[in-house]
Amino acid sequence: MPIRILPEVVAAQIAAGEVVERPASVVKELIENALDAEARSIRVEVQGGGRKLIRIRDDGCGIPAAEAPLAFARHATSKLQKIDDLDHIQTLGFRGEALASIASVARVTLLTRHADEQAATFLRLEGGQILEQRAEGAPNGTVFTVEDLFFNTPARLKFLKAEATERRHIDSVLTRYAMAYPDVRFSLVQDGRASFATTGNGSLADVLVEALGLDIMREMLPVQPPEGASAPIAVYGYTSTPNLHRNTRAYITLFVNGRHVQDSSLSYAVSQAYHTLMPEDRHPIAVLMIVLPPSEVDVNVHPTKAEVRFRAPEAVFSAVQRAVRRAVLGTSGGAPNLSGFAPHTTDPSRPWRALSAPQGSTQNALHLPTEDVGRYTQQMPPADQPDSMPDEPPLEQRPRSLPPMRIVGQLAATYIIAEAPAGMYLIDQHAAHERILYEQYMRDQARHKPSAQRTLQPFTLTVPPTTLRLLEEKAESMQAAGFEIEPFGANMIRIHAVPAALTKYDPMEAAAEVLADLEGGREAGESAFEAQLVLRICKAAAVKAGQILSYTEMNDLLRQLERCEHPLSCPHGRPTLIHISAAQLAKEFGRT
Ligand code: ADP
Ligand code: MG
Repeated sequence: MPIRILPEVVAAQIAAGEVVERPASVVKELIENALDAEARSIRVEVQGGGRKLIRIRDDGCGIPAAEAPLAFARHATSKLQKIDDLDHIQTLGFRGEALASIASVARVTLLTRHADEQAATFLRLEGGQILEQRAEGAPNGTVFTVEDLFFNTPARLKFLKAEATERRHIDSVLTRYAMAYPDVRFSLVQDGRASFATTGNGSLADVLVEALGLDIMREMLPVQPPEGASAPIAVYGYTSTPNLHRNTRAYITLFVNGRHVQDSSLSYAVSQAYHTLMPEDRHPIAVLMIVLPPSEVDVNVHPTKAEVRFRAPEAVFSAVQRAVRRAVLGTSGGAPNLSGFAPHTTDPSRPWRALSAPQGSTQNALHLPTEDVGRYTQQMPPADQPDSMPDEPPLEQRPRSLPPMRIVGQLAATYIIAEAPAGMYLIDQHAAHERILYEQYMRDQARHKPSAQRTLQPFTLTVPPTTLRLLEEKAESMQAAGFEIEPFGANMIRIHAVPAALTKYDPMEAAAEVLADLEGGREAGESAFEAQLVLRICKAAAVKAGQILSYTEMNDLLRQLERCEHPLSCPHGRPTLIHISAAQLAKEFGRT
């Protein structure tokens, strides 16, 4: 065949394949348009699994008569004008492809009235061609009707599954948007039967009762950002207690800034949060909203936007994992709060809007707990340690081992960039913090300072029999390190106190991490158990790679590293920093 440019309609039909795979994709695109139009109520009616008819009615802003035909042109959008707009996009749509795609493979009518106009516009299209346009009377808002989907693309039609399957896909699209927008009223009627409805009262819990059922909802724990936190990444929603699990991760539903996403790494983060609390091959049920500044996510990765890319994926991963872990460890709290909540922002339904203003992105970041007293613990009464020595001299009185460094910033949420007269330094935040904690621990040991801190409430952990035996065998070393552990039933332990270093963040999580590490076993020929234990405690207590640090947190870390005895390597021997001298920089840039 000779090379020829495809007729416009054929090109559109081919392109439509990317966006409109099945009836549920039409429902998704039209719901997104309604949400972008700020609808408070969205009613969806479907016949024949969506093949015969899909009708979506919204009470949003509508389309002005003069613009209505344009809405069906490819790359016609009111949501974006230049590529930079993508950095702070707050709408679900922006590609201007959906209506053109849908219209090219179905018979479509549009009835829309813009809030400022007297009359509504009626438009009828078939296979992408406008066949009719007239003014009509109608209430504010928009009604889209899509009939005979794929009537002119038989190949597509062949691939459609049984009606019941398509119905199910439509159900889950509706359910997901209802979860992400609890303040919008949704209803779905399939073949004349009401199949799903929400009230739009703003309560996620109420939506979940509809979507998951009350029995499951009773076993769900609220996930909330810690009180007063202003981390750049907020995670909230619900996650199941460790007693409720499934054999796949398919029941983990994730939203990023109100957009449903499929992200296997984040689902893994959710599962991981149940480490040691749930059998390895089981997975929780969860519905989680991840809210972060729009500039931190690239949503333009996938035509249907089912995938997104994060600027700092590790930070998002750890935020999700920690939020879920926190919720799960708070299990003692009992019944979930069914009243619903959202982060405190100006627009509770679309919290990412409050975040879109440019932020000094690391300024009010996660709190690296170097100073604060662990909020989960209390200091052991000094009476327990009669021969403890006076406090150590303040930081500034310890000898300096590094030049004073000025912080330039954080790289990949993993490295701190700093400068000193001698050049540039890249500091591995985790390795550096491990070193600081290790030396602190050793100083405490030498001064017989109480290294144990009693937890406010004892907590229990399930551990495998091998760990249990190891703990028994090494009871003395564990105690010396600051753990106060008692056996508690068949394969559980109860922890009353943990080493002080572990209290700053979340002692239970950190203790679980240390024990899981111990489970990993000792490599042959390695040093004594006690030495290993110290290393593991420091590792668990240290700030992780992937954690966004505030300026103050980075500054604390550097000030302490500068006074370490051996600041250049972590206790495992890995380097804590890389130095590029001023001379080296000059040479690289050909300045010498
Ligand atoms: P996109 O959503 O990417 O902008 P679409 O093809 O889905 O592209 O829609 C094209 C344009 O039509 C939108 O930008 C919007 O201006 C308008 N539009 C579509 N649906 C609606 C609706 N339900 N209410 C108001 N305007 C709408
Ligand atoms: Mg759209």
